[in-house]
Amino acid sequence: MKNDYIEKYGFKMVLKQEADKVGIDLTDEMLQKFEKYKDLLIEWNQKMNLTSITEDYEVIMKHYIDCLEIVKYIPDGSNIIDVGTGAGFPGIVISIYFNNKVKITLLDALNKRLIFLKEVIKELNLKNIEIVHGRAEELANKEEYRQQYDIVVSRAVSNLSTLLEYDSGYIKVGGKCLFLKGDSVNIEIDEAKKAFDILKCSVSNLYKYTYVVNNEKYNRYILEILKNSNTPKNYPRNNGQIKKNPLK
Ligand code: SAM
Repeated sequence: MKNDYIEKYGFKMVLKQEADKVGIDLTDEMLQKFEKYKDLLIEWNQKMNLTSITEDYEVIMKHYIDCLEIVKYIPDGSNIIDVGTGAGFPGIVISIYFNNKVKITLLDALNKRLIFLKEVIKELNLKNIEIVHGRAEELANKEEYRQQYDIVVSRAVSNLSTLLEYDSGYIKVGGKCLFLKGDSVNIEIDEAKKAFDILKCSVSNLYKYTYVVNNEKYNRYILEILKNSNTPKNYPRNNGQIKKNPLK
């Protein structure tokens, strides 16, 4: 039904209306970039596994509207890193929205996806954006990345205690994590008490939002976490130790 709506009004118009409903104003330039990004996603998805969401209305809601919610909590001028960006969520969405008003680094362990992201950056002429290939827990120990960012963002990468260990080393003291999470967020917060303690972080806000796709309601959350002091030297640990002995 919603796809008929897209056929009638066009992808950009429907995206604009859905964004308006959640208080986000998208310019014509942003809408053009979002449409081009969707076209590239669908095209490249035929040759590599980028996303299971390929139908236009679902891309609008489950990728774009879902990720756009985060821009409400990002100030202009922020230096951001998206850990486990995959096909660019939320990092590319943030970059399209802010244009060159923020600086963003997209990090992923899977090089194939980064080739796709390079093409997106070129085609959309995105500025102030960088791609890094590697494992989050390894690069967080390198001086050039450690405690260099104002904000770290992640969606659908790991459970919270592991995610905190992957991500918190990247942010400056006083900086924040913005994690996009689903219904299990409160359980994950409870289970991550030890991780919060060891990694010197605390929950500062939990923002709830919802959307409906094909009559199904999705409860979504942006979990904001503050970093209160330096990440201890021996964290993050290596992948083997994180897996074998999670901070729970
Ligand atoms: N954030 C994207 C999204 O919401 O669509 C991608 C989610 S995908 C399920 C998880 C991504 O995290 C994958 O691209 C995977 O390669 C990456 N990832 C998982 N663990 C990682 C790690 N330790 N270091 C870097 N990337 C990692």
